[in-house]
Amino acid sequence: MELLVILFFFGLSAGAVAKIKGSSFALWFLIGFCLPFFGTLAALVTRNERDVDVRACDECGNVVAIHVQVCTRCGRDLDYVEPRGDLEPLQGSPQASGG
Ligand SMILES: [Zn+2]
Repeated sequence: MELLVILFFFGLSAGAVAKIKGSSFALWFLIGFCLPFFGTLAALVTRNERDVDVRACDECGNVVAIHVQVCTRCGRDLDYVEPRGDLEPLQGSPQASGG
């Protein structure tokens, strides 16, 4: 019975890591459950899917990764676009605290 509890937490940790990285929780829960430790490890080293931004080609509408310079379908040169994510809204309104 204790083994099931341990496996459950291994699945939970793998699922949680995968969820943070934008993958399926249920899928990685199963992987972590069936492959304790290794499932969690695999979830940790798996590429973060949220890091990959995509954009549509202006010419043909083909969706390519944001770092792609030339459209893979029509060959059009694509402008370099700053990846999203680090942009913070400029709202410089410090709250005046009275102490
Ligand atoms: Zn294109």
